[in-house]
Amino acid sequence: MPTTPLKTMVSETMKNCGAAAKLDDEGGLAVISPVTGETVAQLPEHSVAETHAAIARANEAFRKWRLIPAPRRGELVRLFAEELRKSKENLGRIVSIEAGKSPSEGQGEVQEMIDICDFAVGLSRQLYGLTIATERPGHRMMETWHPLGVVGIITAFNFPCAPWCWNAALALVCGDPVIWKPSEKTPLTALACQAVFERALARFGDDAPDGLSQVLVGGPSVGEALVESEKVALISATGSTRMGRIVGPKVAARFGKCILELGGNNAGIVCPSADMDMALRAIAFGAMGTAGQRCTTMRRLFVHESVYDQIVPALKKAYASVSVGNPLETQALVGPLIDKTAYDSMVTALAEAADLGGVVHGGEREQIGPDSAYYVRPAIVEMPAQTGPVTRETFAPILYVMKYSDLDDALEQHNDVGGGLSSAIFTTDLREMEIFLSAKGSDCGITNVNIGTSGAEIGGAFGGEKETGGGRESGSDAWRAYMRRATNTINYSTELPLAQGVTFDI
Ligand code: NAD
Repeated sequence: MPTTPLKTMVSETMKNCGAAAKLDDEGGLAVISPVTGETVAQLPEHSVAETHAAIARANEAFRKWRLIPAPRRGELVRLFAEELRKSKENLGRIVSIEAGKSPSEGQGEVQEMIDICDFAVGLSRQLYGLTIATERPGHRMMETWHPLGVVGIITAFNFPCAPWCWNAALALVCGDPVIWKPSEKTPLTALACQAVFERALARFGDDAPDGLSQVLVGGPSVGEALVESEKVALISATGSTRMGRIVGPKVAARFGKCILELGGNNAGIVCPSADMDMALRAIAFGAMGTAGQRCTTMRRLFVHESVYDQIVPALKKAYASVSVGNPLETQALVGPLIDKTAYDSMVTALAEAADLGGVVHGGEREQIGPDSAYYVRPAIVEMPAQTGPVTRETFAPILYVMKYSDLDDALEQHNDVGGGLSSAIFTTDLREMEIFLSAKGSDCGITNVNIGTSGAEIGGAFGGEKETGGGRESGSDAWRAYMRRATNTINYSTELPLAQGVTFDI
């Protein structure tokens, strides 16, 4: 491959991360940067046989790692956070190169890794079980939490590293080795993260077994080998609902555990009492940020008829003026789409919306850099009703706007789609806010008031319902998915009373 400025940047940044692997292996996996559409590396792919060998190594590691005290396991994650801090800029740049994110978003993703590591370090001293009142005299009942086993982590292109770390940081303090199958579109970020992790391992010393954290480069076939292996206790898979429909049943068929973090079709509701300036900014970031390629991107907006003419023209103006450009060379807020397929799906959705009576503003392709790069002006579409493409996730910056007159009707429509990830209401009316958060309100895993749908913090449990898969990761008590629970009953009396008063005399 001839050298170009971007390829030079890739090899220098990888070297700075400590991942000076051979990036130019002809015949391997082509890594294409959406920034220019050029191939910036060719990597060897792991075979299914190598995947099985990695699983065996990880199971060997589990036998040792599960016996290391959890606070000591936390020390490894603490060291990893230190190494991440040192590598934040370089890792962020690799994210920008591979996923096309702005520098601030690329580094924000690395900050999210640091945050979850800090959280996990504290957690390593708080893997609490309950003591439970028992009905039998002279008995004590409690639950204990033990390491689960090997965790297979499959991730999507649009968040090339943070979701790995949400899983890995918790899994490692919980006593579980991890195997990471990153998106075939963003393997460099994974190799760079692994190199940074290995620096932490070197500082940690001999307590850490070989095979504690491994990366497998490749496409769905490598993921499938992980998914189908009975030696992988938990599969945590982030990606499209299409992928989840394949992965979920396969893991269930072998009684494995599964965390599914799948697609969303996130919506906002703008009520008459909303702070319009705040709503405008939150909607603009939530819908256009990361070029609409966040699982939490706002894709639908219900606006009360009394404020429609106030907020929709302001949104249209913001859409027409937002800066679109190369994230490595400009301060543009909107970067490229990942590839031509993403662009084609946007064109198809907009044409379908127009056929259904939608009025499309924006959505044109912007000629930035070579033909192989796909930049678009975000699109805002005024729809007469929630039909056609409005009901599904198109992974591109399209916001469908609809008018409502009654909040209960808006809520019905809000919940009447497959995705159940994130949602937001913009209101200063206490009743509207509480209804949105109540049992008859939003049916999503994330329900926000006066902030957008994207940009979750690691302290809360992250995930969604329905076609989003039902998984929860990151904060709150998400750690429990990485451990197995044992209920222990101890009889310290001289009698043997049976539960429920059952008698059995011999
Ligand atoms: P994708 O489903 O194409 O791929 C995701 C990952 O799954 C990749 O690593 C891929 O190789 C792997 N994969 C695909 N088929 C597989 C199979 N049969 N068996 C095992 N592994 C398989 O998704 P993508 O295009 O990379 O990412 C975009 C999608 O991910 C969007 O739908 C987005 O909403 C979703 N997403 C969800 C979350 C969340 O937390 N809910 C976060 C990020 C992205």
